[in-house]
Amino acid sequence: MALIVKKFGGSSVANAERVFNVANIIVEDYKAGNDVIAVVSAQGDTTDELISKAYEINPDGPSKREMDMLMSAGEQISIALLAMAIEKLGYPVISLLGWQAGFKTDSKYSAARIKSLDTDRLKAELAKRNIVIVAGFQGINKYDDITTLGRGGSDTSAVAIAAAMNADLCQIYTDVDGVYTADPRIVKNAKKMQEITYDEMLELATLGAQVLNNRSVEMAKKYNVELEVLSSFERKPGTIVKEVITMEKMLIRGVARDNNVARFSIIGLPDTPGVAFKLFNNLAKKNINVDIILQSVGRDGTKDITFTVAKNQSKETMQVLEEFKQSVGGQKIIFDDKVSKISIVGTGMETHPGVAAKMFEALYSAGINIQMISTSEIKISVLIDIEYSDLAVQVVHDAFIE
Ligand code: ASP
Ligand code: MG
Repeated sequence: MALIVKKFGGSSVANAERVFNVANIIVEDYKAGNDVIAVVSAQGDTTDELISKAYEINPDGPSKREMDMLMSAGEQISIALLAMAIEKLGYPVISLLGWQAGFKTDSKYSAARIKSLDTDRLKAELAKRNIVIVAGFQGINKYDDITTLGRGGSDTSAVAIAAAMNADLCQIYTDVDGVYTADPRIVKNAKKMQEITYDEMLELATLGAQVLNNRSVEMAKKYNVELEVLSSFERKPGTIVKEVITMEKMLIRGVARDNNVARFSIIGLPDTPGVAFKLFNNLAKKNINVDIILQSVGRDGTKDITFTVAKNQSKETMQVLEEFKQSVGGQKIIFDDKVSKISIVGTGMETHPGVAAKMFEALYSAGINIQMISTSEIKISVLIDIEYSDLAVQVVHDAFIE
């Protein structure tokens, strides 16, 4: 007998038929003698719809506390419906909200972090041989207020339960059957991976592959929770995410792309110490997350700084830059949001020279210009014109993965 934690995303429980499909998957494991805890997201696009409703009431943006009160309702609906489906199939089941399942978080509404998970209730329900259905994405803070963990947070709820309960298996069910070497909608010959390391998955998740929430991967790595990403629509093995993989080390594991990028340049800044510090400090104070950074070599006492941010932070970024240009001195600001970031990820590149050259050659052969480059030990990212985004993913994929 094992303890299995299963997480089902919004598309897996989008309607009654799918809720029953999930109920059957859960019951199968239960019938085999296992303990099962299932974490569920809100049905389909419910969370987005709730957010639209909130902005209909207050277009300036409602308070974050009330947003959490509202958004957490989506998961409340899906856990009750799923529990009802399992009841209907004739098995003992109980649904629990985040706080009932023991999730204590900090007080950062809409982006709360889990502080602790009190597992007494979960254990008591399992001891009664109940199937336990838990609302993902939510918890309670020290003021007894409902909090949510940030978009896509149900993955993290599931990993937290698996870690705290020392589960034997943590399965993340979604609408794709695993993690692919590139988005299969763009690259027809993309391959499903049998295994991937936490670090590679973390890079891919952060770089725009939308299968797993990156905080959940971070947590899985920290507590060494092995994950399986698989489809709720097909019964077949998915992709295993773990520390060390047994498969042959490939040069690169996958290609990711992110189109939610904007590029800013500030030209003709004084070439003196402290300029970069002040600029990025001002951006940090506004909570603007900077990604790729490039500074030119100083020439005639001036230098240029170019960097990228998420597209939806363009407005605030522009404000910071305008002010900075006024106060510190700069000639002009250049802005472009028709850009795309293409990245390759793989622990294999640590020990192989020539990976960057091979990526750049693939882009060059397709006539694609590189605007910016950034690298880490296990990834290389380039910024290109968005028009060539799909083509770039394809040619880079072809260069590394046959
Ligand atoms: N329902 C929430 C969202 O859409 C949480 C989740 O799906 O993981 O972001
Ligand atoms: Mg969702």
